[in-house]
Amino acid sequence: MNRTPIESVQALEGIPRIAAYFIGRIPGLPLALERPEAMTLLAPQHQRILEQEGLENFPLVTAEQIHGKEIAIVTGATTSAIRGMDALITCTRGLTLGIYIADCAPVWIVARDGSAGALVHSGKKGTELGIVPLAIEKLLKVTDLDCQDLSVVIGPCIRPPCYEIDFGARIQEQARECGVLEIHNSALCTACHPELYYSYRREKGLTGRMLATLTLIP
Ligand SMILES: [Zn+2]
Repeated sequence: MNRTPIESVQALEGIPRIAAYFIGRIPGLPLALERPEAMTLLAPQHQRILEQEGLENFPLVTAEQIHGKEIAIVTGATTSAIRGMDALITCTRGLTLGIYIADCAPVWIVARDGSAGALVHSGKKGTELGIVPLAIEKLLKVTDLDCQDLSVVIGPCIRPPCYEIDFGARIQEQARECGVLEIHNSALCTACHPELYYSYRREKGLTGRMLATLTLIP
């Protein structure tokens, strides 16, 4: 029996009017493919799974993800992935932010009153560029929140010994250096659990993508 490969982000479950999910490997879907072909097969599956969670009315807004440090403020639905961006911030209810992952870390940065949030793609390069601290700074700038009002969650990503750099641990330090007190680091390694996750490195680039989401519920 195939399980539905979606998990709610537990550390954020107590926050009002927030839905945060992580969709892992989809059982039975052959995805030893280049990214565009894999994404074509994955998109309807992700859509179906989000519908099952009751998120069908909230347009999915995604980023191009170029391993950079640019951050978009999202205020409405978009027709395609937002170009040049690796992080999305919103204070707008009724949208689902989405970041695709296959070894890089998904990072949720969420106001504990449920009023705003960000979703960040931070791998080796993005972590070196400090995209998480930049996203925290930008989120604080566009809201009246303080760093102590935020929860940060670092999701599954590739970690030592499967990878030479522990960018998951570095992101945790970066968030702490910003003054965030509530930080959850999943400690799960994408390459160690092929039954649960896609891993770009383990599968030599021919694989699918996980989807991390964040919705401010209306
Ligand atoms: Zn591992």
